[in-house]
Amino acid sequence: MSNHSNTPEESGSPARIFPPILTLNRLLRFVSTLLLTSLMIGCGKGDSAPKPCVFLITVDTLRQDNLSCYGYSRETSPNIDRLAKDSIRFTETACTRTSTSPSLASTMTGLYPFKHGVATNFTPLHDSLTTLPEMLKQEGYSTSAFISNYVLIRDLSHMEQGFDHYDDFVNHREPNRAIYERKGEDTVNAALSWLKDRPTGPLFVWLHLMDPHGPYLPPSPFDEKFRTGRSLNLEADKIPPYQRLDSTDASYYIDRYDGEIAYCDQQIGRFLDGLKANGLYDDSLILFHADHGESLGEHGWWFRHGQDVYEEESKVPLLIKPNPSIHDRLGPFLGQAVSHIPVSMVDILPTIFEAIGSTPPANLDGQGVLKALEQEKREDPFILIDQSGVPRDVTHIALRGVDGKLICRIARNRDMEVISWEFYRIASDPKESKNIFSREDPVQAPYVEKMEQWLEEIRNYKLPFVPERFAPKDGDAFVKDRLSLHKKQLELLGYTE
Ligand SMILES: [Zn+2]
Repeated sequence: MSNHSNTPEESGSPARIFPPILTLNRLLRFVSTLLLTSLMIGCGKGDSAPKPCVFLITVDTLRQDNLSCYGYSRETSPNIDRLAKDSIRFTETACTRTSTSPSLASTMTGLYPFKHGVATNFTPLHDSLTTLPEMLKQEGYSTSAFISNYVLIRDLSHMEQGFDHYDDFVNHREPNRAIYERKGEDTVNAALSWLKDRPTGPLFVWLHLMDPHGPYLPPSPFDEKFRTGRSLNLEADKIPPYQRLDSTDASYYIDRYDGEIAYCDQQIGRFLDGLKANGLYDDSLILFHADHGESLGEHGWWFRHGQDVYEEESKVPLLIKPNPSIHDRLGPFLGQAVSHIPVSMVDILPTIFEAIGSTPPANLDGQGVLKALEQEKREDPFILIDQSGVPRDVTHIALRGVDGKLICRIARNRDMEVISWEFYRIASDPKESKNIFSREDPVQAPYVEKMEQWLEEIRNYKLPFVPERFAPKDGDAFVKDRLSLHKKQLELLGYTE
């Protein structure tokens, strides 16, 4: 849609029709309209303006170290690597909780889980919270989301808050349970189709893909792309039932996990090409990240997430491709790895506000990375992985600094009693294999001090609302209902089978 269409009145020849004073008024009106338009219009069709479009690409269950741009020996991610060349690549990262809804609720609110109350999947985001898309609407943005994971559908997550368009049409049933997802190709198709008729003005688009989430069933040729013939036999009961394929060979699963990443990468490449074809790549802020990782045998866990806070589950990729107005500020870091600042996914929201030239709301847990890069340090040098409130007898809270990680194993009682402590020097022990916790170590002292502050805050924090918790609905009945609704919507739009 063009913003240059004139009213019939304006399309005439003013000098001939109106006396000079009216012509001047019309000129002033035209100039003021131009000024207003330049303030309002961002990267919608045919215009450029101060507010850049923002594209947030989330991949579910993606470990940082399985991407080639993060040094993986397999070429799993040629398209994400292309984006990385135009981006800052953060290496010392953590999600806020190692499961989908709590982690993404943090991305969308800028708050750690104990403050947003989404303790588990199927705990909906409370209406009283203000979300990133709601905030961006106040800045003049149109907002849309295309999601692929069943746990994020609006009826179960309330994550649609603030989105003008929330496409949660998940229709592909997993083989081992009545849980649904959408394939990357379909989600990207939906997003690209929407972009063709996008509204004018700045856009915030959230693209969420979940192909690397198990079970690992990439389509051909990705199912065989990384098969090596190695074998590492597992006891079947170590593999979660929903993940089980016709094999107990761990290598078979890992090869297919990488195949899923490569398939997802191909779809991300299609999306990025679509942005370029629509003139939306160069001038936009693009952020790429994951909600959590996946254990592939580390610490005794096979093909799981949500269990623990070790790096295989908590360390995620984060790429930030700047929009032109912040390009100069970030120039030295473009195409580079940044390893001197820890970054949490709770930092995404304030970073977006920094990049679009607006002030983020107060009282967020996240901190903008632009300021941190300029100051060469994060204001709070520790980021939190907060599993508090997870309904288990023992759970974890971790503090990640740039060079170390402190983990508390805590009892899920009201006092959150600390059962044990662990400390790892990540630089020299990235697999967190040797617990060197010591209260006498001066390196660890600031970690312990900060952790005790957080524990006190979590113990005393009272949510200003009572969180709901939904029981997952029966998948078959649910999707049948949604398919029926979708069919009706298509019929209303004039499509018939
Ligand atoms: Zn997830």
